[in-house]
Amino acid sequence: MPSPTQPPSHPFSVVALDVGGTKIAGALVTYPRKGAHPDVSHLASVPTDAARGGAAVLDDMVEVAHGLIAQATHPVIGIGADTAGVVDPETGSIAYANQIMPGWTGRPVARRLTDELDLPASNMGDVHAHALGEARWGAAVGLHSCLMVGIGTGLGGAFILDGKVVRGFRGAAGHIGHTLHHLANDLPCACGGSSHAETVTSGTALCARYQGRRFGDELDPSCMGAEIARRAETGDQRAIEAIEFAGNALGQAVGSWCNILDPEAVVLSGSVVNAGPRWRYALEQGFQSQALTPLSDTRIIEGALGSRAPLIGAAENLLDSIASTAKE
Ligand SMILES: [Zn+2]
Repeated sequence: MPSPTQPPSHPFSVVALDVGGTKIAGALVTYPRKGAHPDVSHLASVPTDAARGGAAVLDDMVEVAHGLIAQATHPVIGIGADTAGVVDPETGSIAYANQIMPGWTGRPVARRLTDELDLPASNMGDVHAHALGEARWGAAVGLHSCLMVGIGTGLGGAFILDGKVVRGFRGAAGHIGHTLHHLANDLPCACGGSSHAETVTSGTALCARYQGRRFGDELDPSCMGAEIARRAETGDQRAIEAIEFAGNALGQAVGSWCNILDPEAVVLSGSVVNAGPRWRYALEQGFQSQALTPLSDTRIIEGALGSRAPLIGAAENLLDSIASTAKE
């Protein structure tokens, strides 16, 4: 990898790539001057079309990066990627990916980007990148520690300590969706396990409950999260019950995790955060039912960066990797 020996001089840009099962998002993250909030621009997005296999997805990442470099008006100092799957913290390769990304396991993402673009490159897990973005420039700035909870189709998480993501020995730390939940009663989980928190707290779980289905069943796409939230506001009792159940179940799980970690605050992100005040109230009630007394004043706040969080986090990870290379 090209290894700069001194910090980049402002202004400069990082190409950020955020790769999930649905889309490959890219942007230029520009650092105008020291200490100033980075600017996210030139957003690009192509469908992941993951069924084509990991090699094709990686080819598309290279192409999106080329396109962004061509549009940059400041020097591009490297590529910061974040991807679905468990990412090896040392190499930026994919240590493990599930069936949503076939052929993704083993892909040397960071090395390939470096080889193709002749720039330093890094890669980290997408949930970890989201958390790092919020920790450096969003809702978790300045916090001693923070538990990030991302509630969308699934349930993901990350623990931030002193502004750094705790990635774990294998890069797999933070899989809060795959912890035991007493309300999950042997429900089969997307990971292959069962009785996991994701099956009762995620957006998918909420929709399944409203539609009278079990987690993992085929769902009616015309009546998903936003529509259920709208119906709850108009007094639809089944919608209210589903939202309150999912919110309370999540709150209980968050309380349990806080009993282990004692974070300064919990930061919520993901589409389900928009499920409305009933969901939020149920979450607080669930939290208080499980959190130990000394933790009962733990602040539960919302993320500030939205979909820009992983892009900024991926850029920050690249800057960290350049700084650590320069020190060696
Ligand atoms: Zn699971």
